[in-house]
Amino acid sequence: MLIVFLGAPGAGKGTQAKTLAQKQNLTHLATGDLLRAEVAAATALGLAAKAFMDRGDLVPDDVMIGMIKGRLEGPDSDGILLDGFPRTVAQATALDEALTTANTSVDRSIFFKVSEEELVRRLAGRATCPNCQRPYHDTFNKPQNTDKCDDCGSDLIRREDDKPEAVRNRLKVYATQTTPVLEHYQKVGNLVEVDGEQSIDAVQEDLAAAIG
Ligand SMILES: [Zn+2]
Repeated sequence: MLIVFLGAPGAGKGTQAKTLAQKQNLTHLATGDLLRAEVAAATALGLAAKAFMDRGDLVPDDVMIGMIKGRLEGPDSDGILLDGFPRTVAQATALDEALTTANTSVDRSIFFKVSEEELVRRLAGRATCPNCQRPYHDTFNKPQNTDKCDDCGSDLIRREDDKPEAVRNRLKVYATQTTPVLEHYQKVGNLVEVDGEQSIDAVQEDLAAAIG
């Protein structure tokens, strides 16, 4: 079984994938982890990927797809939750084609629907202590004194990337790339939309229902 998680950064895919994978005995495959594991194990695809990464280039789609296919045919054949791939229609199409040759397919693609306002609220509120690295969040994990670390009293810092305007730009880029991916899976007929603004438990219930 192959399940694809789609949704913007901050939509909660990682958190939900971890819980769902445990409950349903699936393997949670985040693209970054998959790459690191293959490189560490020095598989043929891992070495190919490393050559691109060492040059600062993106790992080509066929290498990523080879890794995913390898895991599906191997120890994780019971089920994989794919998180972070595909991000473009070209990747989605290439993945479909590769799976077809292996007589399998994406069973469900699940879109975590979260409004832009909520995503900005989740992503833009982050702050970190530069001294002890403790993370904070304006809404979910506030420091006792505004912009001071509870542990060491240092002034908290905010990454440029986490400021609202930067977050909005990132979300726009994401939407431009992935809206066509949603349309692709809609056409294929395996797309399910889940309301990602519900509580974590309510989202889990919807996911379980979507997977069947
Ligand atoms: Zn601190």
